[in-house]
Amino acid sequence: MAAIYSSLEVIEVDQSLSFNRALVEKYDRPGPRYTSYPTAPQFHQAFALDDYQAAARASNQAALPKALSLYIHIPFCKSLCYYCACNKIITQKTHRAVEYLNYLKREIAMQAALFDRTRTLRQLHLGGGTPTYLTRGQLAELMDCLHQAFNLDDSDEHEFSIEVDPRTISTEQIEHLRQLGFNRLSFGVQDFDPDVQAAVNRQQSEAQIYALVAAAREALAKDGLVVRDYVCDVAKAADISKAHDKIVADLGGIDVLVNNAGTARTLAFESISDEAWQEDLDLKLFAAIRFSRLVWPGMKQRKWGRIINVLNTFAKAPAGNSAPTSVSRAAGMALTKVMANEGGEHNILVNALLVGLIMSDQWVKRHAAQAPNTDFEEFAKGLARGTPLGRIGTAEEFANLACFLASEQGSYITGTAINVDGGRSPVV
Ligand code: SF4
Repeated sequence: MAAIYSSLEVIEVDQSLSFNRALVEKYDRPGPRYTSYPTAPQFHQAFALDDYQAAARASNQAALPKALSLYIHIPFCKSLCYYCACNKIITQKTHRAVEYLNYLKREIAMQAALFDRTRTLRQLHLGGGTPTYLTRGQLAELMDCLHQAFNLDDSDEHEFSIEVDPRTISTEQIEHLRQLGFNRLSFGVQDFDPDVQAAVNRQQSEAQIYALVAAAREALAKDGLVVRDYVCDVAKAADISKAHDKIVADLGGIDVLVNNAGTARTLAFESISDEAWQEDLDLKLFAAIRFSRLVWPGMKQRKWGRIINVLNTFAKAPAGNSAPTSVSRAAGMALTKVMANEGGEHNILVNALLVGLIMSDQWVKRHAAQAPNTDFEEFAKGLARGTPLGRIGTAEEFANLACFLASEQGSYITGTAINVDGGRSPVV
């Protein structure tokens, strides 16, 4: 029996470990973790209990109090995955979950007391550790407790999700999760290569995962809900065409297309190879051309279509060291205008949205790489310096405009490129 001491917890491991020291040292550097929101760097000591309680009270007094979102952590796992950086306790002693659940129920009651009962709890996520470490009875008890404490949204509009370790659950238990109200599952899958699985001490077969996914689809189908997935590398013409055909076969036609592939590739002009130019154009420009060309005939026929090309503010105001991205994006803006001119008579409206600083994983990664010892809020403020609104935008703020353009409300807007950047771009 060995014991590993980490900064978070004590882990009991029943195996002797052997690691490649050179490999560990090579990757021994801070990396981002962005599986939770708000992300870890946004938590800090300066925001104390009083601040939290005051914020909760203030949120109740808003003119239109928002629906609630709740995260619950179940820290137990039966065995250790060697790559894991989660806050977890490895134990076979299932009675520890009983004690934990008792404390958790008290915590739920204390949290619920802070929020008006009229507010709906619309988002719930059970993470871990391994939430499916809990027995069926314990999970049911936990959901009962939440029902008593909060006003849970009982419609299927809610987002109730749970992390599932495929090694700890049967297809029958998936059905049970559905009965408890969960409509989203997250399976931990790192790799299907058996050697990799052995190396990280997490062995789960491909067949096992697919059986669980099939059971989840079946459980939803009983309630008339269908889940569809389309996998496509948008830099490849053949993939785009295959995905398009499958979508049309399943859904009958595409009315709204949002071309939103991208990477932030900004280099000095003389250092950009032909390959890098081509990759950037394939991903950002040709993906939009190819997808748009495929949906175009159907939109023309139905006399209704919306295409939104997501670009960035460099498209209008390219800076030095901003290629190839600025050039691919500027081409996307010209494409937008061309399609808008040709689409007008068919009621196909084509617009571009030019993204500025919008909160996403890329800023969390950049913070971890460039300034891991500074507070994330400070880092974000620094990024937003020079933006008239003084802050980074949210994904919702960006999506609001996309939804407007895709709706009937946007019926007289076409051929335009709108900055969504808090006023940061020097050009209108
Ligand atoms: S099951 Fe998840 S939380 Fe538990 S050790 Fe593995 S990766 Fe970490």
